[in-house]
Amino acid sequence: MKITDFRVHVLKSPLAEPFAFSQGWVKQRSATLLEIITDEGITGWGEAFAQGLEPPEIAAAVIDKALKPLLMGADPLDIEVHWHRMYHMTRDYGRKGSVISGISAVDIALWDIAGKFHELPIYKLLGGAFRTRVRPYATGFYRIKGQGEARRLGEEALRHFDAGFSSMKVKLGYGVDDDIACMEEIGRAIQGKPITLMVDTNHAYGRAEALTLGRALEEFNLRWYEEPVVPEDVQGYVEMRQKLTMPIAGGENEHTLYGFREFLGASAVDVAQPDLGSCGGLTAGRHIVALAQSHGVQVNPHVWGSAIAQAASLQFIAAVPVAHHSLFAQQPILEYDRSSHPFREHLIKKPIEQVGGWVEIPSGPGLGVEVDRAIVEKFRV
Ligand code: CA
Repeated sequence: MKITDFRVHVLKSPLAEPFAFSQGWVKQRSATLLEIITDEGITGWGEAFAQGLEPPEIAAAVIDKALKPLLMGADPLDIEVHWHRMYHMTRDYGRKGSVISGISAVDIALWDIAGKFHELPIYKLLGGAFRTRVRPYATGFYRIKGQGEARRLGEEALRHFDAGFSSMKVKLGYGVDDDIACMEEIGRAIQGKPITLMVDTNHAYGRAEALTLGRALEEFNLRWYEEPVVPEDVQGYVEMRQKLTMPIAGGENEHTLYGFREFLGASAVDVAQPDLGSCGGLTAGRHIVALAQSHGVQVNPHVWGSAIAQAASLQFIAAVPVAHHSLFAQQPILEYDRSSHPFREHLIKKPIEQVGGWVEIPSGPGLGVEVDRAIVEKFRV
């Protein structure tokens, strides 16, 4: 089998109602999708992570200009070989950010091809499924105005609960006082209900404010406190772990085995959160799992992309071992963004859905999803 073509699709759609996370206002949804075509009629799909403020054209250019020329005519099944070649050949201008997101999209598409070729779900090729379904957690609580939205956020928590979510992650990082007011309101709204909360400031603060916020939130029994400081401040992460009681999570802005070596080697996190669309794909995800396992750290992938990224995340979650084995060990959970996303829900023919508090992991070949080309064409720019 040979790779005969790459097709990169940049998708965009303006949001009817822009929303904010701590780093800025998200005004449109965007995605960088990739199709790798082979001479045997098998097509693989991949996706590069497009953070809400990130122009999707950057990863698209990386794929088209830097990676496609390396892989044209090659055997798509040599996945590990291609990963290292792509990394080596982009090292001097890559290693982080959108270059690695481009590599991620290629890698995911190659795994999709391999699964379709062997007629197996990707998790089988990764070593098998530790689980066939996963608990989703609702990511939401974005801001529409900015500050002073505590009451609305309390109501939102109840909406997620009524929709079947027992875990939810609250976006914070809009000022420590406002954050605390929001959490108190959410706490009041969900009192007595079996709900697990997490918080995520998207690295809005320096160490002092991050600690003040963390100390104020200790009563919430958080499953984790995500990105408390900037990803470059590895020692800040270490300080959070030493001075706060809740688990510290991070990693969506870290990349490859090499980036996670710094993070894990310093004992910076309790929960490592590589995003398959930006850490280097499933191949890098597998490297990171091995490294995390050796440090006793749970891997719980981050995902905020379209249905292709969700599908890759699900295949990966199936194959992630627990970090601390016991009869009732804590299992990874699936990030399930509840914000408006016109081409996530409809991009695949059988949408990834939460039913009764669970998401089933697709067991069809490759990513286990079928892309609806009409949707690709509709949002393609
Ligand atoms: Ca996050």
